Amino acid sequence: MEITRRKVLQALGLGFGAVAVGGIGAAASLYLNNTKNRSPPIIQSANGENLVLCDLHCHPSINRTLEDKMEMLGSPGLVGLTERSGPAGILTYHDAVQELHSHPDFKELTPGKMAKFKEGYFVRTAEVHGGFLDFIAIDFDGEESFSNQDSPLTVIQDIRERNGLVVLSTPYSVKDGVGFRVANAEEEPIITETCRLSDFVEVHDSYNIDLLWYGLKESNRAATKLQQSGCGANDPVLPFASSDGHRELGHCKLTGLYVAEDNLKNAGTFRSALESGDYYLAGNAKDGPYTSRGEFVRSMILPKLLPFLK
Ligand SMILES: [Zn+2]
Repeated sequence: MEITRRKVLQALGLGFGAVAVGGIGAAASLYLNNTKNRSPPIIQSANGENLVLCDLHCHPSINRTLEDKMEMLGSPGLVGLTERSGPAGILTYHDAVQELHSHPDFKELTPGKMAKFKEGYFVRTAEVHGGFLDFIAIDFDGEESFSNQDSPLTVIQDIRERNGLVVLSTPYSVKDGVGFRVANAEEEPIITETCRLSDFVEVHDSYNIDLLWYGLKESNRAATKLQQSGCGANDPVLPFASSDGHRELGHCKLTGLYVAEDNLKNAGTFRSALESGDYYLAGNAKDGPYTSRGEFVRSMILPKLLPFLK
């Protein structure tokens, strides 16, 4: 099957309905602000092939029952277990392999990188901070974790040295004290420069909802413009969508990229599909899906407040 890069860009421009080959377009409006409504894990292309939802940016908690973790990992769709340096608590790829390796339905497709469990796939990804910008590293070599850096360029260099793909993650959401804000005019040139050095820019992040300090749907809209302008200079950069789920297992596989199942044989075939733009975007700034306000409070705000309530 041929999903060309041109089609990817078309799908983005036309919105979620453009990928409605499996009959999902009519439901697009239901995805607004409701975690229970999510991009379907599998859709079919016009010629009947399975397209699998690949959510490469999610941080589920390791502190859930094995049964619940198995259910999430084994459900249809692909999840990137996105590790970060700093406090432990995120279910990483290595944790998941350790917990599942003796299960008869588990198979590692590429050691250290990509596995299949029941109907689901999971891969190792990492989130790395570089100054005020964040990056998602995909399909990188080596076992050790990435370190956060003061400079975005150093992070890109670190990921390239390990042969990884670089996603500029939700570049207009800037950390500000305990919360986030939308990037300002002074930060704009750094964002566009960094965009030009990246392979992908995250144009839809389901956690960028408009609540309290956030007001961040604007961040998704700005990132979409950045990608469509070729990083402000007609430089090719591919669009990327993810859940960016935090803690709750059910927040993974909320949205992402649809990749033909034929391309999920191993980390190499998956990478080739991503690099060449052979995928559809599942989410967009306008239609979502976004995590619900209640779920956002539960997964993002309450954990910050709990230490003060004890
Ligand atoms: Zn994240």
